[in-house]
Amino acid sequence: MTDHPTDGLERRQELYEEAEAAWGREAQLNKAAEEFGEAAAALNRALNGQESRENLLEELADARLMLEQMEWALFDDDEVGAALDEAVANLEARLEVDGDG
Ligand SMILES: [Mg+2]
Repeated sequence: MTDHPTDGLERRQELYEEAEAAWGREAQLNKAAEEFGEAAAALNRALNGQESRENLLEELADARLMLEQMEWALFDDDEVGAALDEAVANLEARLEVDGDG
């Protein structure tokens, strides 16, 4: 698999520390909310056929980075893992009811 500069979780976490030190946690929470909003808007434009794949991917990457940063800033790894496990289990359960599974 190709190496990308963003593959390293350790490097990303260093950057999250730097961002929080530079701008503060509240600013990072605001930035996260902003990026999630931009991703939502890009998805809506995509539904309307008014968004390029390139821009949609860019907005999803922005949101993903802020999502990971918020998990890093606000929760322990164990909490994040447990919440993700629960979300996956909920999806599985919904598919059991609604899907073909
Ligand atoms: Mg953005």
